[in-house]
Parts: sequence; C-alpha cells; structure tokens
Amino acid sequence: MRGGITGREEKILVLVRLRPLTEKDIARNEVADWECINDTTILYRNSLQERSGLPTAYTFDRVFSGDCSTKQVYEEATKEIALSVVSGINSSIFAYGQTSSGKTYTMTGITEYTVADIYDYIQRHEERAFVLKFSAIEIYNENVRDLLSTDSTPLRLLDDPERGTLVEKLTEESLMDWGHLKKLLSICDAQRKIGETSLNETSSRSHQILRLTVESSAREFIGKENSSTLSASVFFIDLAGSERASQAVSAGTRLKEGCHINRSLLTLGNVIRKLSKGRHGHVNYRDSKLTRILQPCLGGNARTTIICTLSPARSHVEQSRNTLLFASCAK
Ligand code: ADP
Ligand code: MG
Repeated sequence: MRGGITGREEKILVLVRLRPLTEKDIARNEVADWECINDTTILYRNSLQERSGLPTAYTFDRVFSGDCSTKQVYEEATKEIALSVVSGINSSIFAYGQTSSGKTYTMTGITEYTVADIYDYIQRHEERAFVLKFSAIEIYNENVRDLLSTDSTPLRLLDDPERGTLVEKLTEESLMDWGHLKKLLSICDAQRKIGETSLNETSSRSHQILRLTVESSAREFIGKENSSTLSASVFFIDLAGSERASQAVSAGTRLKEGCHINRSLLTLGNVIRKLSKGRHGHVNYRDSKLTRILQPCLGGNARTTIICTLSPARSHVEQSRNTLLFASCAK
C-alpha cells in the first residue's frame, strides 16, 4: 500500500482546511463554532443550532485543523500530485471557499513549496535537461487578463487542434530560478491589486490561475533522432469567493447577472461532480472560460486536489455549510 492520502487511486482528492480565528475576527468578538475532532471529521458545535436538524458532523478524505501549517497541508495532500508534473502528468490544485476563509494564504504557500521541490528534483536529476515556464491569468466576469502584463485588455481564447484551448498573446516566462518565481508572484499580486481598486474588490470575484509547465528531455539524446520531450503542467487555482456562486443562486431575478459573474464557478462545480462520479459521458468544459482553460488538467489522466477552506467564525456558518456541501458533492 502506498502511504499518504495522495497515494489513493481517486483522481479527485477533496479536503477541508479550517483556519483559526484571525485577529480581525477576535476584534469583532467572533466565536469559533467549528472544530476538527480527528483527521477526517469536522464538527459544528453550537448548542442552539445543533437542535435545528442540520448535520453537525462532516467527513472527508482529510480535514486540517486551525493549527496545521500550510507546509503540512502541502506535504500530505498536494506534494505528490504537484510533483508528478516532472514525470509528464498534468494536475490542478484548487482552493475553494468564501472570501477570507484562507484560499490565498493556502495557495501561495503551496505554489512556493511546489516550485522549491521541483528545483530540488532538478538538481538531483542531472541526466535530464529541464525548462520551467510560468504564466498567470485572472478571470473576472468571463474576461481573461494577463497578470504578468500591465496591459489589462481582455485576452481571447483560441482552440488549437493539437494543444487544446490557448490564451492568445499570454505572457509566458521561462523561470530562471526560485528568486525569479518570487518576483513574478509579486508582479501578479500587484496586478491583481490594481484591478481591485478600480473594480471594487475584484480579487474576491475573480479566479487567479497560475500555470507552471515543466519540459524535460534526457541529455544523452538531445539533438538525436530518438530524443523525446516530456511536458506537463500544474495549475494553481485561487478561485473567486464561493459566496458569489451561492448569492447568484439565491438572487432569483438577478440570476442571469449573477451567473455571468459566476458561470465559471458553477460550471466548475458541475464538471467536478461529473468527474468525481468517475463515469464517462459528456462533460461540459466549454460552458465557461475557467473550465475551457483547465480542461487538460481536469479529467483523463490528470490529477486534481480541491482544498476547501473554511472560516470557523459563527457569523460565517451559512457559507461554511455551503462550502462543505460543495466538498461533499465533489468527493
Ligand atoms: P481568501 O483568499 O479566502 O479571501 P485569505 O487567504 O486572504 O482569504 O485569508 C484571510 C485572512 O486569514 C488573512 O489575514 C490570512 O492571513 C488569514 N489566514 C487564512 N488562513 C489561515 C491559516 N490557516 N492560519 C492562519 N491565518 C490564516
Ligand atoms: Mg484571496
């Protein structure tokens, strides 16, 4: 038997990460109502609501409590999946949850740990030559924007018969080293923040997708006829706040408008539910830009991890339940 939760056969791994109360929460006199009672079960403890008939215990492949570090989440849940990119296997790692639940906190750490480990792997495999490429986009309101460019003109998607859906004119940087990645990540952050002020907290409404592509070939065959290149990508996806999706559903007459903002999130949910059933048949990747772009790293041989982030705060209970419902449907 292989160790760790990522050693399983399933193509989609769903886990929940509960964050601790933040200083901001504490200043607002928030109370923590959620608690992980072991590695797989999260419990809602509020004596008033416990009598409401709603479930109080939820079970997943793995739940991480507020005192688990991002390093721990990475090591146990995403490392093996992300590192399979060096062997030519595509993967995607998502953070799903309401705004302020810890998506960015989680994904930032995981992205950095992954790249550090890939560089470590490269150093130990001198028999192969590696090239790492990095690109970053934001999808807001079904518009795709290059986060490595100061030009915020929406980019078009193109269908390439061989390579699938491509983002036209997207900047793709060849990574030089670890420091280069840090620099690119801070550019993305700054670009995202510029959007935020002009579009009113865009980051909670937009999806950020970082793509790392690893190409490699055996040095002894380079330039020879029998040389072959392995190439695969890992996507790191910091999704829009999930409250946007549930608001769209509950908004009734404003459904159309809400769906426009959230089509990506709703379609992603449908795609994931289909894939997690493990059945063949039609999967509607084409219904949103997010799923079109991610298609090579969803389904097929690709591996997917969804980290559902949860706030323990009492006032967030409704959103926390929605997140757990999404997680239950996806597993
Ligand atoms: P989101 O991206 O989902 O809106 P953030 O990642 O920005 O949420 O997190 C909201 C706040 O909570 C930030 O101040 C962040 O530092 C803090 N936070 C999130 N997750 C954790 C955690 N696991 N441990 C400690 N602090 C966290
Ligand atoms: Mg965020």
